[in-house]
Amino acid sequence: EYVILDKKRFLPTDTGDIVNKFLTEHFSQYVDYNFTAKLENQLDDIASGQREWVPVMDSFWKGFSKQIAEKESISRAEVTTESLDEACPKCSKPLSIKFGKRGRFIACTGYPDCDYTRNMGETAEQAAEEAEAPTVIEDRVCPDCGGALHIKKGRYGKFIGCANYPKCKHIEPLEKPRDTGVECPECKAGHLIERKSRYGKLFYSCNTYPKCKYATWNPPVAEPCPKCNWPILTIKTTKRRGTEKVCPQKECGYSEVIAPPEAKPAEE
Ligand SMILES: [Zn+2]
Ligand SMILES: [Zn+2]
Ligand SMILES: [Zn+2]
Ligand SMILES: [Zn+2]
Repeated sequence: EYVILDKKRFLPTDTGDIVNKFLTEHFSQYVDYNFTAKLENQLDDIASGQREWVPVMDSFWKGFSKQIAEKESISRAEVTTESLDEACPKCSKPLSIKFGKRGRFIACTGYPDCDYTRNMGETAEQAAEEAEAPTVIEDRVCPDCGGALHIKKGRYGKFIGCANYPKCKHIEPLEKPRDTGVECPECKAGHLIERKSRYGKLFYSCNTYPKCKYATWNPPVAEPCPKCNWPILTIKTTKRRGTEKVCPQKECGYSEVIAPPEAKPAEE
């Protein structure tokens, strides 16, 4: 696709722009108005029998094929790259406009030593601001180093990463942890949030982790244990005992059945 029709006017696409630039730079005589007019006259003469077609095509083809042979060595990059009068903010080599699969973008000519890129139509300041102002996750810190957690944008979408990258490589999927609203029974400052263990099992831990390391496997409820007075109970469901409220304090052992196990066939 070389042109798109916009409000009855032809507008060149990025590809059209590049093809046009290539033709006018390297095959100027063939896109020249006088040349095409002259060729058309010659073709008219051939049509009306005033001219032989072989010599006309011969002279055209000889010149054209010679030029194609000369231009064959021009690389795709040479044609699709346009230099910009701007220094790379990262390495101060000149920037250029490149043409990639997703259209045009600005990139450093120092590539691959320098990986600076930004979108067309975006100023260096805008690009820097976007890169420098990540979204900070308010109520948690990095469980590995205690640094801030940022929402980052990667090749495969958004994820949560440590602000101290590359020193700390902690990353996790961008999945909002469910807040149970239950106050942490240990530090009484945080609250318990639902998290997924490395093996996919859910657990509930204090949102001030790693400051407070309290965690429990079963969903918590904000009800003090009637036996030991621990501030929370947890809901535990097993095939054998059904659903019960249990005290998460192992040494206490309090449990109270809230729903008996489902009736099972006798042989089980
Ligand atoms: Zn650079
Ligand atoms: Zn970290
Ligand atoms: Zn806590
Ligand atoms: Zn208890």
